[in-house]
Amino acid sequence: MPAPGELVFDAPARGKPPVHLADLDASERRSAVAALGLPEFRADQVSRHWFGRLEDDPATWTDLSPADREAIAPLLPHLLTPVQTLTCDDGATVKTLWRLHDGSRVESVLMGYRDRITMCVSSQAGCGMNCPFCATGQAGLTRNLSTAEIVEQVLAGARLVRSGAFPGDRERVSNVVFMGMGEPLANYRALMGAIHRLVEPVPEGLGMSARGITVSTVGLVPRIRELAGEGLPLRLAVSLHAPDDELRDTLVPINTRYPVAEVLDAAWDYAERTGRRVSIEYALIKDVNDQRWRAELLAKRLRGHLVHVNLIPLNPTPGSQWTASRPEDERAFVRALEEAHVPVTVRDTRGREIDGACGQLAAAAP
Ligand code: SAH
Repeated sequence: MPAPGELVFDAPARGKPPVHLADLDASERRSAVAALGLPEFRADQVSRHWFGRLEDDPATWTDLSPADREAIAPLLPHLLTPVQTLTCDDGATVKTLWRLHDGSRVESVLMGYRDRITMCVSSQAGCGMNCPFCATGQAGLTRNLSTAEIVEQVLAGARLVRSGAFPGDRERVSNVVFMGMGEPLANYRALMGAIHRLVEPVPEGLGMSARGITVSTVGLVPRIRELAGEGLPLRLAVSLHAPDDELRDTLVPINTRYPVAEVLDAAWDYAERTGRRVSIEYALIKDVNDQRWRAELLAKRLRGHLVHVNLIPLNPTPGSQWTASRPEDERAFVRALEEAHVPVTVRDTRGREIDGACGQLAAAAP
């Protein structure tokens, strides 16, 4: 048994992934490199290859001797193995199903737009929040991802873009959204580790802008407040889906612990402390949450705040009786918000043909 706090490089028991360079900050990397018998400055060189040049094959690192390249290998365990890759939108949407070291599966989606490239990542294998309209929620929680397992999803997308195999003339992944599998705020430490890796400049990290990173949550109130205190201008998205507790208790079961009023209070506190507009996610479900009176109640609760509503036509999960709203009900819902001067957009349904956003590939794969 390793002592508490000791780094474990060997294949661990099911569940805990091996420690990877991307799990560690600069000083931890120096110690890890020294523990492998190498001079500490190698940590900086390796990090520049990994995060700066996105080179994941040590054989190309000619500023290290072959012996040192071999010695560093335990710090670069293979964390993600692609099981299946699906493409649509003329190649501008690429969804990958990954197998983790213990056989768990997660998915990520790379989406190219005219003005940005967005990587949608998973923060957990499965999810414990049990929202009945979400495919991931149906399978339950397998385990938390490690910081490196999250960062490596982004790096995989960044390498694909860098390789030129992704359409468009943008050269970098500019945005990351935590809207894949899992509840990011239920895996807070690994989430913050990953965010630090994404925003810190090379060689420590990827040097992305925190403003381009969105953390999407069911509304874990204490964690929203903690996130507001991190001093990072991250975008917060709250998956509301209903303006009243009676319905939200059934759509987002954690609402029985953190009801709508408390979630919105925490959201306004977040907006105030970070200066960032909060996104309210609302999946429109036919005859469930799309009534005119609910749109008016939603508008009433949001009016006057630094907020933007993202309406998402429900992506039906296999076997569910629920489906997306009728076009006329969707239009009426939008109009009610607009009349109350609440900014609203209907999200495009990117990747729907490949079960884009909602855990359906992992659920369907053998
Ligand atoms: N657990 C986090 C992040 C993952 S889900 C959260 O709940 O916010 C990302 C977004 O996709 C959430 O807004 C979620 O409610 C939404 N979503 C899940 N299943 C969906 C479906 N079948 N159709 C449309 N949106 C869905």
